[in-house]
Amino acid sequence: MIRYFTVLMLLAFAWACQPEVSDASGGAEESVERAEYALVIHGGAGTILRENMTSEKEKEYTDALNAALDIGERILKAGGSSMDAVEQTIMYMEDSPLFNAGKGAVFTHDGKNELDASFMDGASRNAGAVGGVTTVKNPIRAARAVMEKSEHVMLVGKGAEAFAQEQGLDIVPPDYFFTQNRWDALQRTLEAENKQNGALLSNPDHKFGTVGCVALDNKGNIAAGTSTGGMTNKRYNRIGDAPIIGAGAYANNATCGVSCTGHGEYFIRYAVAYDVNALMDYKGLSLQDAAHHVIQEKLKAAGGSGGLIALDRNGKVAMPFNTPGMYRGYARPGEREVGIYGE
Ligand code: ASP
Repeated sequence: MIRYFTVLMLLAFAWACQPEVSDASGGAEESVERAEYALVIHGGAGTILRENMTSEKEKEYTDALNAALDIGERILKAGGSSMDAVEQTIMYMEDSPLFNAGKGAVFTHDGKNELDASFMDGASRNAGAVGGVTTVKNPIRAARAVMEKSEHVMLVGKGAEAFAQEQGLDIVPPDYFFTQNRWDALQRTLEAENKQNGALLSNPDHKFGTVGCVALDNKGNIAAGTSTGGMTNKRYNRIGDAPIIGAGAYANNATCGVSCTGHGEYFIRYAVAYDVNALMDYKGLSLQDAAHHVIQEKLKAAGGSGGLIALDRNGKVAMPFNTPGMYRGYARPGEREVGIYGE
């Protein structure tokens, strides 16, 4: 009898000592296989309507999105790191005049281009960001350099530029960022503002255009980055969500990586990127549910327009937006999709 009781006790003890299985990606235990790699990008969200687009313009954007995905996918396929994939993919989009980041950035009220970017490593949760730089060719490289080569997380203005120069990054004259399109958009905004007797109008076109990328590599490491020129007609050295860790970007290997685009002030106030991670971490929501809730419910109810791209630790992808369109795309082994409009 005593022997029988001892065996029972041992069994009960062994059961109690089993490691707890937690699955941040799906609440209930799912045996989901991790994709060998995954990559997701955006080129901004806003009033992007099929009826306002020519087929040539549409092709230019889908070609650019595919070319950006090619760059990141090549790195990940060869076993490269998610951080390299994010940096190189975003650099391509910064160099393209199509997007509101790097060359092609929107103009401030004073006719300047002030650029913001952030970078985060989901393995270490190290992060770096720059705000309001006017001479750094690729702000995303500067953000990564802040993370890796300084003891800080965020540098702004002249100091950030001096740091980028010290790090040997490409420095360009401010007029490198000029594009006629963006200049004309500022003139239209200024005219509209004058008609409204000077009421501040940041973006009557409601076309955003920030770029972002999130990647998962074959070691299970997630990285995220965001880069932008901000909003047309911004003033007073306004800085948006893009360089704010937790607002415009976030990465955590245990949950997800996120990059946002939209009306920055809302994304800052609602800590959008971190909120997706928190819903997965604390409530066990899936990536799809967390991302949908934050963009389509919470942010929308608050009046904040925009979207995000994200992937979870298994390489599942989410790309919700509450605007008419968002330039976006993702790649996984044997899978590729790019999109512009809402379905
Ligand atoms: N989020 C950016 C900002 O507010 C703008 C954008 O996404 O287009 O600066």
